[in-house]
Amino acid sequence: MNISNCGTIILSNCPVCQNTSENSYTVIVDSIEYKDTELDYSVDICLACGCMYAKQRTECKELYTPKMDVEKENVHQINEVYSPKKIWNYQNKKLQATELLAIVKKDEVKYLEIGSSDGSFFYVLNKLSEINNISIKGTLVESSGASEKCKNIFDCRVVTESILSVKDIETKHYDIAVLSHCLEHFDNPGTVLSIVHKALADDGILFIEVPDGMKVDRGITSPLSYFHIVNYNLLTLGELVRRCHFEILDVIERDNYPGLRLIARKKAKGKFHTENRGTLSMSLLWTKSAVRCWKHHKETALKKVHHILQKLTHDSRLLIYGVGGHTKKMLDQFPGLMNAANCDFTDSNPPRMYKGRLSKDSRHLIFESYDYVIIATYAGQETVYQKLVRMGCPETKIIKLYETINSYAN
Ligand SMILES: [Zn+2]
Repeated sequence: MNISNCGTIILSNCPVCQNTSENSYTVIVDSIEYKDTELDYSVDICLACGCMYAKQRTECKELYTPKMDVEKENVHQINEVYSPKKIWNYQNKKLQATELLAIVKKDEVKYLEIGSSDGSFFYVLNKLSEINNISIKGTLVESSGASEKCKNIFDCRVVTESILSVKDIETKHYDIAVLSHCLEHFDNPGTVLSIVHKALADDGILFIEVPDGMKVDRGITSPLSYFHIVNYNLLTLGELVRRCHFEILDVIERDNYPGLRLIARKKAKGKFHTENRGTLSMSLLWTKSAVRCWKHHKETALKKVHHILQKLTHDSRLLIYGVGGHTKKMLDQFPGLMNAANCDFTDSNPPRMYKGRLSKDSRHLIFESYDYVIIATYAGQETVYQKLVRMGCPETKIIKLYETINSYAN
């Protein structure tokens, strides 16, 4: 199946500091496979502010329409009923909700969320505010198919299009605007924040969470995902927010989940303060250091696979856990792995075709039939390892692709 609406987007300016994109350098050009189509993108670093972003990429408009729900595959969403056990990353959402309620000291709150996904954060916030006798009226903006689930949450309005095309967002209306793991998906974050600025009441609060650009995935895939256009660090996120006429009240780098959280208050439009050149050159040093760290871990993992490949004989039997981007990259680099007498794939997802072979249902694996079991997933590596051991896989057969990963909360 082919996808439609593909074209190439080239950014002429850095999404954060607006300096010309010619003042940048390319770290890597990469691609992901989506429905048999290669979506290419570059990973670039702005020399003026140190922001990491995709200067050029294949656009796929279909990804941001109600018929698409990409995150569902990553199990980042609820299937049926809302409950703490079923909400992805529940503990982190509860922490966010607690932080938000602590800054908005009102009994009735008008709430706007951009990129609300399945609405589970608003659900958690609603439950917590009920306990605190606060009433919250929410507007949830979500252009993907995840918006369907938001409609099940009591007392909210769901807008199923991109914030960039919504015509009837109220002006000077909302007490809070939340963008949780959303802003990094836009190549024009300044435009998004100016819409939010307009929608917020004069003392309105902006709450942003983004992935931490200093803790990028240290794996064999790119330091920037295709779906994220920008990797922010504390300095570039602060710079962007100030440029959009907000006063930063609080900012934190979370340790249990690789994300930055920033809280700001709307200011009247006027002259804005930008960081001095020294601070932004520090940001550039940070980003370069994050890239060096990523390269080191990538090379270490590739050496490990090279070592396994050398040990394989014509009758070796191999099981690869994971049918995602990390496995694809590993096999692109070492196609010889597929020549093992047995090279089977498995994953926690339902069996599907991968590299011309049907992946095995992980519940029915017979570990005696394999010499090596490679775990080629990133975020879930430790969980998969524990699961395999519980299922009876000898620890001596298991090879973890990565020595260390940035841990994610559940
Ligand atoms: Zn820049």
